[in-house]
Amino acid sequence: MRKYRTLLFDIDDTLLDFAAAEQESLRMLLESQGIQYSTDNHNKYSQINRRLWAAFEDGKISREELFSTRFSLLFKELGKVVDGMQLEEHYRRGLSEGHQLIAGALELIQELQNEFDLYIVTNGISKTQDRRLKLSGLFSSFKAVFVSEDTGYQKPMKEFFDFVFERIPNLTLNETLIIGDSLSADIKGGILAGIDTCWVNPKGVANTTEWKPTYEIKSLSELYNILEVNRK
Ligand SMILES: [Mg+2]
Repeated sequence: MRKYRTLLFDIDDTLLDFAAAEQESLRMLLESQGIQYSTDNHNKYSQINRRLWAAFEDGKISREELFSTRFSLLFKELGKVVDGMQLEEHYRRGLSEGHQLIAGALELIQELQNEFDLYIVTNGISKTQDRRLKLSGLFSSFKAVFVSEDTGYQKPMKEFFDFVFERIPNLTLNETLIIGDSLSADIKGGILAGIDTCWVNPKGVANTTEWKPTYEIKSLSELYNILEVNRK
């Protein structure tokens, strides 16, 4: 008999490629202002963004200031005066449409849906996450999608998982596995909730935290083995 029956999947950088969505969104934003996308321009944006986030975390600027100035500063460097807040909204719209799949994700989920109960557990905004799942073709394979916004809690909080577990019929903790790329959200959350965990770590980053996953994989295809599923 198989060990697991219920699988909880994270979305970003587990099934969907968040960095690719960011890049595409930035490309559309630049092009809307008649500027070509380039690695150089992307790096300029990343530097400004990082600097503003650091200032925000130090309490030097507000969240609003961060979001309303990151694009006005970027375009200023590129020789253009723009309405920062308007472009921020444009950028977010692009991001909320981003649904580039991680290699093999769609095939894997379609294969697993017949043999396991699949659920999404994600931090974020419900409307955005639902939309991205639908655009990517993943949505219909999941029995339910749990987004932090609707639960009032977020991964890794125990309360988030309590909310989820109460809504999954016949859930057994030792037959449940969470799969995600974040040690601090998915793995820590899974361990606190008392279930097995699978860390998706494509870059082979060293785990210096106290949260040790049950499994560690470099690519989604390793799940076929762990879950004892024959790949078609
Ligand atoms: Mg993630």
